[in-house]
Amino acid sequence: MRGVVLLGDRECYVKDFPDPIPGFGQVRVKMMASGICGSDLHLYRMTKEQAKSRGDRIPGHEPCGIVDMVGQGVKKVKEGDRVTVYHYLGCGHCEFCSAGNLMWCREAKGYGGPIDGSHADYVIADERNCVLMPDSVSFIDGAFIACPGGTAFSSMRKLDVKTGSNVAVFGLGPVGLSGVKIAKAMGGRVIGVDVIDLRLDLAMSMGADVVVNSQKEDAVSAIRNFTNGKGVSLAFEASGSTKGRTDIIHSLCRGGKAVFVGVGSNENVINPSQIIGSQLTLMGSFVLPLWMTYEMVNFLDNQKISFENAVTHRFSIDNASEAYKIFDEGKTGKVIFEWK
Ligand SMILES: [Zn+2]
Ligand SMILES: [Zn+2]
Repeated sequence: MRGVVLLGDRECYVKDFPDPIPGFGQVRVKMMASGICGSDLHLYRMTKEQAKSRGDRIPGHEPCGIVDMVGQGVKKVKEGDRVTVYHYLGCGHCEFCSAGNLMWCREAKGYGGPIDGSHADYVIADERNCVLMPDSVSFIDGAFIACPGGTAFSSMRKLDVKTGSNVAVFGLGPVGLSGVKIAKAMGGRVIGVDVIDLRLDLAMSMGADVVVNSQKEDAVSAIRNFTNGKGVSLAFEASGSTKGRTDIIHSLCRGGKAVFVGVGSNENVINPSQIIGSQLTLMGSFVLPLWMTYEMVNFLDNQKISFENAVTHRFSIDNASEAYKIFDEGKTGKVIFEWK
C-alpha cells in the first residue's frame, strides 16, 4: 500500500509499504477519506533529526473508509461496513476505556503518533474503534467526525447550545467551521471571528449569521452589537491565539461559558477577578469520547448536515507532498485525501 512518510523540515514522500493484515480482534479499513489536521503540521514541521527518530511511521488520524478484511475473533464489524475510525486505541480495560473515554486512557495511542495512521491506503483498527455510518453520512463527514467535527461537537455539547443561544466562534479553520455548522444545527445564532477573509466566507457558507475580520474590526464590539450590548452567553475558542482567547473572555455576558480547544499561545490571558465577577465557566476540551462518536453519527444523520463546504482542497494520496504544502500555508479550509 501507499503511505506518507515525513522527512522533517516540511518534506514528505509517498512510500510503498506491505499491505497490513489485521490481527486478533482487528479489522483492516480501506481508506475513502482522511483529513490533514493542524496537528499533522506540527509533525510536518519537525526537524530532520526528530523525523529520523520517528522513522517511517505513517501520519494521519482522521480515518474513514470501508472494512475490507476482518481478523480472527471479530464479532460485530463486517467486510463492507462503512466506518469512521475512532482515533485513539486504549487498553480497553481501565476506568476511562470502560466509560468510552479512550482518549484519557493512560496507555492511549493515537493514530499517526505511536501507531501507523491514516495517510495511507489502509488502516488497522480495533473492532471497537469502528463506528458504523449510514449511507447518508459521507466518507468526508466521517473523517470530520474523527477529529475536527468531533472536537467541535463535544464542545458544543459542553456549551449546551439551545434554540436562540448566542454563540461566538473564534478561529475558523476546520474545527471552528465545524463548530459553526453544529451550533447552527442546535439552534444557535452564530458569530464567527477570524483574520482570513476566505475562512470568513467559508463560515458564511456553513451557516454563520455574522462574521468579523478581527484585523479590520474590533471583535469584542462586533459581538456586543450582535447581542444588543449584552455579550454572548456561549463561546468556542479554536484559534489558539492570545488575542482570540483574550477577546473571547471579554465577549462573554455574565454567567457566560466558553470552551477552549485551540492549542498555540502559552501567554496567560485569565484574570481571576473577571471570572469571579462575571461568574464565567471556562472549559477545555479535547477530541470526543468513543461513546459520543455514535451520538454524533446519529446527529449528522438526523439533522441532515454535512461539513463538506469546509473542504477547499481534495488530493489523491499520490500528491501528499503538494497537499501538505498547501495546508501548511494556512490559507485554506479543510484539506483532505480522497480515494475513489
Ligand atoms: Zn485532527
Ligand atoms: Zn484504558
